Amino acid sequence: MNELFLPVSREDMLERGWYYYDFLLITGDAYVDHPSFGTPVIGRVLEKEGYRVAILPQPDWHSAEAIRAMGRPRYGCMLSAGNLDSMVAHYTAAKRRRSEDFYSPGKKAGLRPDRASIVYANRVREAFPSLPLVIGGLEASLRRFAHYDYWDDKVRASALIDAGADILIYGMGERAAREIARRLASGEAPETITDVRGTAVCRPDESYCAYEAVSVPSLEEVRRDKRAYAEATRIEYAEHDPVRGRAVTQRHGERCLIVNPPAMPLDTRELDEVAELPFTREPHPMYEAEGGVPAIEEVRFSIIHNRGCLGGCNFCSLAFHQGRMVTARSNESVVREAEKMT
Ligand code: SF4
Repeated sequence: MNELFLPVSREDMLERGWYYYDFLLITGDAYVDHPSFGTPVIGRVLEKEGYRVAILPQPDWHSAEAIRAMGRPRYGCMLSAGNLDSMVAHYTAAKRRRSEDFYSPGKKAGLRPDRASIVYANRVREAFPSLPLVIGGLEASLRRFAHYDYWDDKVRASALIDAGADILIYGMGERAAREIARRLASGEAPETITDVRGTAVCRPDESYCAYEAVSVPSLEEVRRDKRAYAEATRIEYAEHDPVRGRAVTQRHGERCLIVNPPAMPLDTRELDEVAELPFTREPHPMYEAEGGVPAIEEVRFSIIHNRGCLGGCNFCSLAFHQGRMVTARSNESVVREAEKMT
């Protein structure tokens, strides 16, 4: 296996002399070691913090065996459905099954399950029952509150609750992942990590919230009443502000979803640092026989310059994920990346 990439199997780890590792990262996409792919970014960020990180891309989800075969990491598992919501990746707007998947080797469809965050979380619980479990990525992020699901044509519960994970990271996850990793590694139990900005947790009631909070109509109310749904959405969007946003709580039956205020966006220096982590900028060589991973082609000669959008267009999810505050890399860092590429 290629040592320039993060390890992708137990054998890969043993070849590096790793008899233990710290975090298992699972993704619904093939492993493309490029800053456009969320899980490899989190992997590289945690690696820079000194942790041993392994990536398990597109595991067989029909049993827990593929996850168990990685061995139990010391501190926790972080998982993502991939760069796209798995339902968007799998179905057209007419609800027809897509025949190709650009985030899989050789465009092969069917390598991740529908609602991948929930399915992977269940498999991790089976493989390692008491392991701290964090879900993140676009799918979990945009489904953090009770939400309308086009595919089921009904209002579903927060992905955190359906997945049964300990913590959900929403938005761009570097800060939250770093803080959660540090606290888990220091021996803190996941149940007490309730106050990280950019995360959601589920607790018995609102008193567990560490921030000034506003509550929105419950899951049951937004299922029953469209006006309550609209009111909840208005508040959720209004509070999605890293400077003045409050936490948002939402009852789900006997439990309370607590969505902490958003993390501060990375500033210029921090964005430069992430972009200049040692990405190979290539799909893992294990995909060569299948013709590589086509999603790399769109971004192979792209440079990510900024995050956030102040547009807030209703049909676009960008602001509800990255936020409305625009931050940008330095010119010098962008030029360094261009030079490296050429
Ligand atoms: S469509 Fe999305 S990215 Fe474009 S301006 Fe609107 S909110 Fe911003």
